[in-house]
Amino acid sequence: MAVAVEELKAGGVVALPTETVYGLAADAFNAEAVAKIFEVKKRPSFDPLIVHLARAKDLAKVAVVPEELQDLVKKLTKEFWPGPLTLVLPKTEAVPDIVTSGLPTVAVRISKHEVMRGVAKELGNPIAAPSANIFGRISPTSASAVLAELGGRIPLVVDGGACGEGIESTIVAVDMDGGKPVLWMLRPGPVTREDLRKFARVAKPKEGKGQVAAPGQLESHYAPRTPLLLFEKPEDFVPEEGKTYGLLSYRGEEKDGYVGRHEWAVTEIMSPGSGKMSEAAVRLFHLLRKLDESGVDAIVAEPVSTARLGAAVMDRLRKAAGSAS
Ligand code: AMP
Ligand code: MG
Repeated sequence: MAVAVEELKAGGVVALPTETVYGLAADAFNAEAVAKIFEVKKRPSFDPLIVHLARAKDLAKVAVVPEELQDLVKKLTKEFWPGPLTLVLPKTEAVPDIVTSGLPTVAVRISKHEVMRGVAKELGNPIAAPSANIFGRISPTSASAVLAELGGRIPLVVDGGACGEGIESTIVAVDMDGGKPVLWMLRPGPVTREDLRKFARVAKPKEGKGQVAAPGQLESHYAPRTPLLLFEKPEDFVPEEGKTYGLLSYRGEEKDGYVGRHEWAVTEIMSPGSGKMSEAAVRLFHLLRKLDESGVDAIVAEPVSTARLGAAVMDRLRKAAGSAS
């Protein structure tokens, strides 16, 4: 960890574990260092980064919370930080424009992972860290996946083991609408709509309100190189002559309609154990990588329920398939 802090202090970038996915980190207050993140990721400059804090009281360094939203922000941070909830709030002058792609707002969270939090604490500055993958590709959920993505392009990956959540943080813009606080859902994630509803109205961003150029909102993202196909129902899948297909199944059960439908070249099961969605979320990107590397012509993914955490899993599947959610 000390080596990572030194590298960041020197204006370099390093890959660090978080509880969601691995992040590519730089000192958020060093614009030149942040520029390296964009370079390494081949990320377009219109795509803003998430800023990680060491502790909640550091929020004031990066964000100005409007008076009428202070109560809500306090409740949200108390309940969900450290954890996989990213808040979009008006930014302070200290945050360089390159971090927010020139937006007046900043996306901020505190990771539950002690490495990310510890490094931010030692550095003394917030850390800008998007997922440690080439832009548009599958987010890495292990140190080996980071090396597969960015090996040779970065000096250091801190191996913190497999990510506990496996899916990127929930992002909400905290705003006022019609005189009342609202949470614009910019990206579904481990903190679900159902969790957030207890605190404020949760809504889809509308034109000009909480609306940003978020890749979470681009139609194709988190994508394998192999085409990923999603169907409304199993009968809609018609294999092409001479092509091989891999199946990404939720539970690997016949009754879901996909397993017995075709002679799959490979079958990967998201939730082989308890059939719980959290297991599916943890394994999703790992299995997408595996299927991508298996050499099949296309991957067919079983759709999952969109209740609670399923909304985030289904969002990533839709984006991997290149179809808008
Ligand atoms: P990544 O960590 O690669 O998943 O990317 C960070 C996500 O946070 C992207 O989807 C960004 O668009 C989003 N984001 C960062 N800053 C802002 C902001 N100021 N407003 C809205 N979304 C943001
Ligand atoms: Mg990303």
